[in-house]
Amino acid sequence: MTIAIIGAGVAGLSAAASLKAAGREVILFDKGRGAGGRLSTRRAASPLGELRFDHGAQFLTARDQGFRNLVSDLEQRGHVAKWTPTRVALSKTGGSWSAEALHADDDWYVGAPSMNSLVKAMAEGHEVRWGERAVALSMREDGRYVQLDPSGWQGPFDAVILAIPAEQAKELLANTSADLAGEAAASATAPCWAAMLAFDAPLKTEWDVAEIAGSPLGLAVRNSSKPGRGDEETFVLHATPEWTRANVDMAKEDVAAELSRLFCEMTGADAPMLTAAHRWLYAKTQTPAASPFGWDEDRRIGIIGDWRIAPRIEAAWQSGHAMASVLTD
Ligand SMILES: Cc1cc2nc3c(=O)[nH]c(=O)nc-3n(C[C@H](O)[C@H](O)[C@H](O)COP(=O)(O)OP(=O)(O)OC[C@H]3O[C@@H](n4cnc5c(N)ncnc54)[C@H](O)[C@@H]3O)c2cc1C
Repeated sequence: MTIAIIGAGVAGLSAAASLKAAGREVILFDKGRGAGGRLSTRRAASPLGELRFDHGAQFLTARDQGFRNLVSDLEQRGHVAKWTPTRVALSKTGGSWSAEALHADDDWYVGAPSMNSLVKAMAEGHEVRWGERAVALSMREDGRYVQLDPSGWQGPFDAVILAIPAEQAKELLANTSADLAGEAAASATAPCWAAMLAFDAPLKTEWDVAEIAGSPLGLAVRNSSKPGRGDEETFVLHATPEWTRANVDMAKEDVAAELSRLFCEMTGADAPMLTAAHRWLYAKTQTPAASPFGWDEDRRIGIIGDWRIAPRIEAAWQSGHAMASVLTD
């Protein structure tokens, strides 16, 4: 019998790959219109043509050998590329900004030509039904069923794996698995407002990535410094969790204007020609679960995602890979 995976982000696709390699039949359902999850790419029309922004995850590292193998394969096939940005820590002293150089311990990789290329490549060869939101689960005599919006009840499935953020998993599990719902409820994910800026001329700013202290801006990234992003000068800004929480219901346009204003004040840049904002309600887990996956043996429901380990792409992959071992042993 087929295994259903809800969520075709890195965690869900990692589980799918391991299960398929062990001969299991898998189908994935994702509410998104296309591959990405938190590695989504935003396209925006500008006077200079279409621009692409990585407005969620910015880069990935690969320390686990299994994940390194995947990244290396994707790099050889051109879906992932190394990125060596100039990094600084910015802080404000006596009213002016000072920069301290930072150096990476690991190689940094990005999807090529956009972050979602990594998820697109991972989805190749799997049956993924996009545009399907799971709204309920049901345990019946002949197996497990998933209610999808818009296509209705689907099943029976041998097992169901939820590969979605903890807060969304908690809602789906409320009436089916109290233990797993409890695990999901114990994990909290911080929100993040992201702003996307495009300039009509290169900025004088000498860095590509700035980790910022003492500002509502937590991170600023020169999107256009990543390989294959085009020649236009583009930046992505991530607000801190504290500022995002305090302004979580602010209108998108106001967020874009405020984060852009702070950025221009910090860098001395002229106003951008394009600004946009995106709210990630569930961006980065702040209290990870105690184990790489959760499993309810009686109901044959699993839960996975970065939130089981750490807010990183590699952790999402590890969670999915670990989950698959239960169903392939
Ligand atoms: C602003 C931001 C910055 C980040 N920066 C970095 C970084 O620089 N480096 C790094 O390693 N990580 C970073 N991360 C974290 C990284 O993006 C995540 O760790 C990783 O993407 C998690 O993968 P996942 O598969 O667990 O979840 P997701 O990527 O969230 O995938 C879950 C999928 O489930 C789908 N879904 C959700 N609910 C339902 C439902 N009810 N029915 C059907 N489908 C559903 C979603 O559409 C989505 O595709 C960042 C995240 C954000 C938001």
